[in-house]
Amino acid sequence: MSTVMGMRSESSRRRGPAWDVAVVGGGMVGAATALALARAGFATALLEAREPAAWSPQDEVDLRVVGLAPSSVALLHDLGVWTSIRDSRASAYARMHVWDAATGAAIDFDAASEGRDLLGYIVENSLVQWRLWQALDAAGVRRLCPAQVSGYEVHDDRVQLALASAETDALAARLLVAADGAGSPLRTMAGIGTRGRDYAQRGVVAHVSTERPHEGTAWQRFLDTGPLALLPLADGRSSIVWSLPELEAQRVMALDERAFLDALGVASDFRLGRITGSTARAAFPLKLQLAQHYQAERFVLLGDAAHAVHPLAGQGVNLGLRDVVELRDSLVAAHDAGHDIAAAHVLRRYARRRRSADTIDALGFDTLARIYGWRAPPLVAARGLGVRLVDRLSPLKRRLADHAAGL
Ligand SMILES: Cc1cc2nc3c(=O)[nH]c(=O)nc-3n(C[C@H](O)[C@H](O)[C@H](O)COP(=O)(O)OP(=O)(O)OC[C@H]3O[C@@H](n4cnc5c(N)ncnc54)[C@H](O)[C@@H]3O)c2cc1C
Repeated sequence: MSTVMGMRSESSRRRGPAWDVAVVGGGMVGAATALALARAGFATALLEAREPAAWSPQDEVDLRVVGLAPSSVALLHDLGVWTSIRDSRASAYARMHVWDAATGAAIDFDAASEGRDLLGYIVENSLVQWRLWQALDAAGVRRLCPAQVSGYEVHDDRVQLALASAETDALAARLLVAADGAGSPLRTMAGIGTRGRDYAQRGVVAHVSTERPHEGTAWQRFLDTGPLALLPLADGRSSIVWSLPELEAQRVMALDERAFLDALGVASDFRLGRITGSTARAAFPLKLQLAQHYQAERFVLLGDAAHAVHPLAGQGVNLGLRDVVELRDSLVAAHDAGHDIAAAHVLRRYARRRRSADTIDALGFDTLARIYGWRAPPLVAARGLGVRLVDRLSPLKRRLADHAAGL
């Protein structure tokens, strides 16, 4: 990829905004965006409302963990942060076993049989975010934190940001990138609506110890209440994401430790034996949410601000990091062709490509969630048959695995 090194000084010499890009939101996706754009030579500012806590190996494993697909690992590698993430606390997994509680039908994904070393890594959200933040200064990203964007105005050649804090100067950039999460205040400010549905479910998360080892395998059992995932952690424990209807989630959250461990053992069909211990639990609301547009004048959305998906496929942040790659490549191509990086046709290209890819994935995960919600016996039997068939069709399985890997 060609780079546009030197743009920063060029920007500050010419009349116009001091910054090429202002990224709002410094979560995993926003921080990766700021780093990727700065490394590609764009003068980039990152605004984040809350200072992230420094990650330390002495700390308990963050309850928010994500499964990073090979495409995400490749981006983090490209940004120069992957090795330190992997060496800090990442858990490689090479197999995935998915099974249906009602029929027993199962699908196995095995990296070796796909000709790969592994399927992905389970990593703490806070570790990835922190390593990205540590790399920002050296890449020349101007960090403004804490800085809460309270509004913005679009002019002919710039976007002028207004900040809630009176101590911070107003800031102008050619392009405003909103990576401010699923509740995205900037999406609302831009007048962009969303489509989707509330699953009326919560994902209960915790890290648990189990009687038997996790074998470097991601386990997922589909129950009629929703999927239960046990993701392998580097320290031998498993991280659970237990999707449950709202009331059931409240009940599970209120159980005492013994009752919770027992209920989880039953829900996991004791696949890893008894559950012998657990951290504190947390619960996240689950929804399908797709922004109606990913683009407005001098403005784009990415990450959860653009799309929130059911965690059953463990793909939320992977989609967000694919947005980052597409945006960076679109902006570099525009700059190399001598175009304004925030020209409508440039942003449209990014928006069209990512929105259609994200929509296909989000609706695919939604369809899976619906199929696994079937309770009528003939439909359940058909599902079991379908699952067994997919497991035997190697080419289809390979395509599913390649797609999840971002290949
Ligand atoms: C239970 C559960 C399990 C999951 N499991 C997986 C998984 O296995 N694999 C996977 O890929 N994904 C998973 N996800 C999804 C993943 O966690 C998200 O996709 C990802 O964290 C989104 O990152 P983001 O940077 O887009 O948004 P966020 O992490 O929400 O970051 C947004 C940032 O914007 C800041 N902000 C907001 N408003 C403003 C403002 N006005 N001004 C300045 N800053 C602002 C916030 O402070 C925040 O830091 C899971 C999600 C849930 C709920």
